[in-house]
Amino acid sequence: MPNLNFHPAGRHFLQIPGPSPVPDRILRAMSHPTIDHRGPEFGVLGRQVLSGIQQIFKTRHPVVIYPASGTGAWEAALANTLSPGDAVLMYETGHFASLWKKMAERLGLQPEFIALPGTDTETGLPNSWRHGVQADLIGQRLRDDRAHRIKAVCVVHNETSTGVTSNIAAVRRAIDAAGHPALLLVDTISGLASADYRHDEWGVDVTISGSQKGLMLPPGISFNALSPKALEASKTSKLPKSFWAWDEIVEMNQTGYWPYTPNTNLLYGLAEAIDMILAEGLDNVYTRHDRLAAACRGAVQAWGLTTQCADPAVHSPVLTGVVTPVGVDADQVRALIYERFNMSLGAGLGKLKGRMFRIGHLGDCNDLTLMATLAGCEMGLRLAGVKLGDSGVAAAMEQLAATSTALARHPH
Ligand code: PLP
Repeated sequence: MPNLNFHPAGRHFLQIPGPSPVPDRILRAMSHPTIDHRGPEFGVLGRQVLSGIQQIFKTRHPVVIYPASGTGAWEAALANTLSPGDAVLMYETGHFASLWKKMAERLGLQPEFIALPGTDTETGLPNSWRHGVQADLIGQRLRDDRAHRIKAVCVVHNETSTGVTSNIAAVRRAIDAAGHPALLLVDTISGLASADYRHDEWGVDVTISGSQKGLMLPPGISFNALSPKALEASKTSKLPKSFWAWDEIVEMNQTGYWPYTPNTNLLYGLAEAIDMILAEGLDNVYTRHDRLAAACRGAVQAWGLTTQCADPAVHSPVLTGVVTPVGVDADQVRALIYERFNMSLGAGLGKLKGRMFRIGHLGDCNDLTLMATLAGCEMGLRLAGVKLGDSGVAAAMEQLAATSTALARHPH
């Protein structure tokens, strides 16, 4: 037998920006026996999660829950609203926006990718991978589209590959100011229940999200929150769909059931997660994430390193991307931290491979989780020979101590 120890003493620190650690309460809730998905008890559970999740998306309209990862919900959003050959305007914020565009191509759509041009002189990295969506670029492109060929605008709210959270309300205003009828499709797979999000108020037509990030669940369920305009578009959209089709699901969801076998045990977990999030209060959840993210950035600054996000107005509350100095392979630093300190950090993805790593501070995360995480990073960076300025741990500790308040307690 190979001598692999998958269970070293102490807990593993899963500090990637999703999947995030699953709290004990949720693990326990998911361990209930699986019930008949057509039986009377299931309808109660179904109705409970379907109405609870509306509160998390801040919508009065239907939210479709799929037994799929976020990628499935991306496909569902496109397939339900669009037809072969439709032009869609997508914005390059990073790796996930790029993957969504590739999917649009594979589905037979005609995506047009726009981006902030140029390269950042400090890091040599693409500007658009260091900044948020520039709503004015979208507005300009839509004004030029007098024939209204563009059927949808697709943006990523929290770009998990960079740690940038874009201003969705500004994108909505730009579409309205251009007087353009395009649908607005938003991916907040890694933003929901961590970063402020308002499906109805921001006039989003389809919001896409997933279970394994701010909702603190394992991977395996994903969401489409709809608007009346999106539901209307689904009646004429011609991209092939069957499993993903909203009509039958929305219809059956009214009684708390699904047209197929849903992911029962993940739905138990979802009910528990919604309880936990609403008990804390969504605003408190957002404030907790903002505060942890600010302390993490304080540490990066003290180290003398650069955050991937270059615009202070759009730093992500979910994760922080840390650019390693030229010549330092970020993947080697991550590997060293994994081996020595049993902590997983997010890799640089796509154009950022080896250039940066990502610290997740989302979901079931508090001051001491972050402090341990930063200690692991600081020790690992030093061991990797990276010259650090001051102690990021000391800086974050001071920042957190100065802003700490009594914890809101609810039963575990
Ligand atoms: N979009 C964003 C912003 C993501 O962070 C992810 C996954 O991390 C995805 C899409 C793809 O989701 P999944 O891996 O659950 O299919």
